[in-house]
Amino acid sequence: MTGTLNKAEHGAKLLEGAPVANQIKTEVAKAVRELLKIHGIQPCLAAIRVGDDPASEIYVRNKTRACSEVGIRSELHALSASTTAVELLDLISSLNKRNDVDGILVQLPLPRDIESAEIIEAVDPAKDVDGFHPLNIGKLAMGKPTLVPCTPAGILELLDYYDLPIRGSNACVVGRSQIVGRPVAQLLLQRDATVTVCHSQTRDLPSITRQADILVAAIGRAGAIGGNHIKPEAIVIDVGVNRVDDEVTARTLFGVDLQQRLQTIQKRGYTTVGDVNPVEANLVAGWRTPVPGGVGLLTVAMLMKNTLKAARLRRAI
Ligand code: NDP
Repeated sequence: MTGTLNKAEHGAKLLEGAPVANQIKTEVAKAVRELLKIHGIQPCLAAIRVGDDPASEIYVRNKTRACSEVGIRSELHALSASTTAVELLDLISSLNKRNDVDGILVQLPLPRDIESAEIIEAVDPAKDVDGFHPLNIGKLAMGKPTLVPCTPAGILELLDYYDLPIRGSNACVVGRSQIVGRPVAQLLLQRDATVTVCHSQTRDLPSITRQADILVAAIGRAGAIGGNHIKPEAIVIDVGVNRVDDEVTARTLFGVDLQQRLQTIQKRGYTTVGDVNPVEANLVAGWRTPVPGGVGLLTVAMLMKNTLKAARLRRAI
């Protein structure tokens, strides 16, 4: 009983992404300086954006900004929405051939007329810093070292930074996408967790998620994981990035920060929430990542790490 009261008073401990992301970026910056000093090589990331989706513009800007922070050269190929698949494939082919380009990032989603699977497969697997190429996905599934998708890799870095135990734990991943759910499940399995993967067809989701010592939510539905989905004291990793634009929903999701959130909705038109209901998770979980300020920060940091890794692997240094 006392434990429950304490929990309600103090809440779950927050797994902030910023210190982890800063540590990763500091390490990458140091390694980039050494690469330049010893081998005369400055890694380069080529980012491709097609169309003028505002969210994609922000994501790509954040990525190129992070490059300059850590000393990685970046170049942006901003293509018009009318770009054809052939034109995009031509650009990727020329970037594949250039020895000075170490990483190629194609910002998703692509316009509807372009089949993203074909584009992803056209990227040289050695330059696939997003880790989306089938060859890299296959290596990951086999437990071989490879370029791993950034968000899942960042989640593992976060768990390690906060010294949270993985081996032997029950881990549950809700979501089975190629970019988050499946790869994070593979990584947790490689680290000897007992992993369950859930999805939209899973029956009685709460009865499964409540078994999890580590619960990863990557669904894309605002606050869908509530207190009844969470085992007491569990580690809850919230990958979701969703918008809430109405006060009624906001009141069901936010606690001490409600006024601040309502102000953000008034000012910007929306506030960002994950797939986990933060106010309920706070009462039940032992640890949880905030949104914003959690996993999202690690995605960009891991992209920097992957670009450095690609630069080294390609040259075997
Ligand atoms: P997808 O839409 O590709 O996949 C969503 C997954 O969730 C699917 O496997 C789907 O099941 C499952 N799902 C949907 N509804 C339910 C439900 N009610 N119960 C159980 N499972 C459900 O999304 P992504 O994996 O690309 O992204 C997930 C979230 O993470 C999004 O909010 C996205 O914005 C965010 N994200 C955040 C990143 C970051 O850097 N922070 C990076 C990437 C994504 P099924 O397969 O059966 O359809």
